[in-house]
Formats: sequence, structure tokens, C-alpha cells
Amino acid sequence: MPEDRKMPNDALRLFFLAIEEVMGKEGMHAALRGAKLEKYINNYPPKNLELGVTMAEYGAAEQAVEDFYGPRGARAMLTRVGRALFNYGMKEQSAVLGLAGQALKLMPVPLVAKMKLLLEQMAAAGNKTVNQPVYLEEDADAFYLVYPACMCEYRPRHSSPTCHITVGILSEAMKWLTDKNFNVQETECLNIGGKVCRFKIPKTPES
Ligand SMILES: [Zn+2]
Repeated sequence: MPEDRKMPNDALRLFFLAIEEVMGKEGMHAALRGAKLEKYINNYPPKNLELGVTMAEYGAAEQAVEDFYGPRGARAMLTRVGRALFNYGMKEQSAVLGLAGQALKLMPVPLVAKMKLLLEQMAAAGNKTVNQPVYLEEDADAFYLVYPACMCEYRPRHSSPTCHITVGILSEAMKWLTDKNFNVQETECLNIGGKVCRFKIPKTPES
């Protein structure tokens, strides 16, 4: 396991708000107890960008949600939490997501150019604000967000890619930006022995 990496308070705070929206307050308390993060019950991290929390804490909370729903239900629930997290970040204009907001959405440029701008902003926020290195790649068919370090490294080994939160965040980001649905997938994952976590965002929407 890598040395525990610091994260900004607001990243964990937004994550907790998103979990609470999906699981309710009681479910959230159960998840925090399951993650051995009781200290955060009714005491979320403050809304600032100081590096006061850790990736391991984020990973533990993610794992607790998964344990709560069981392996079958967890994927859909975690994806929903990721979508809720994006919406909270958007509503609060959190620097954690690096969003320019409505101005970007209304820019008179082609869809694919807009998608690239938003993904670039999210990658820049990862590097600059979240203390999570990330870079953007692109080919003719898709964009790829690539994370050489991830919360999933602090979680038990799985048998398939585990980073459903990020899939949810990216799916909702594209939906917000374009009003269309994109089939975002994690194609390589550190948790199952990958060299990076890699997320494929097709340039063509599903619907
Ligand atoms: Zn992963």
C-alpha cells in the first residue's frame, strides 16, 4: 500500500454529502461506523481546500458503502453517489472539481471541444487542488482520464475495476455539459493490478 496521501477537506466533505443523499442520514452513520470514521459522524470536514484528510479515509468510506449494499448492489449505488457528488460540487462551485459552470456549458463550440475543455479543467483541479495526479489522453474515438494514484489502492483487492464513484462523477459531468448520456467505463484499475486507473469517455453519446 502506498504512503497515505493527503486530500483537501472539501473533497471528503462533498463525498460525505453525496453518500448521505443516496443512503440517508442513518445509512451514512452506518457507513461511517463501518469505515471506522466515527469521528466524522455529525462532524464533516470543513468546506476548505486545506489538505486535512487522506485518500485512505476516502477509500474506507467508499468501501463501507460497498459493504453496506453488498457486491451486487454496490456498483449502481456508488455510481449514484458519484453523480450526486458532481452535482454538489457544481452547486457549490467547488474548486475540487475545477468547474467553470454555466459559461462553459453555453460556449458556442462543438460538443467534443466542450467535453475536452471540461475534462481538462477536471484534470487540472486534480493536479492543483486535490493532490491527485491525473492526465488526459485522447484518440479518435474517446478521451481517457488517467490516474497514477487512487483511493482504490487503500481498499481490499477486488475482482473487477472498483472506481464506480469516478465513473459516476464523469458520467454526470458529461450529462450536465451535453444533456446526453455517455457510456463511461473504467478500463484499467490499480485495485486489480493495473498500472493506473483509466477511464474511457467515448466522444459519441449513447443517447
Ligand atoms: Zn480504479
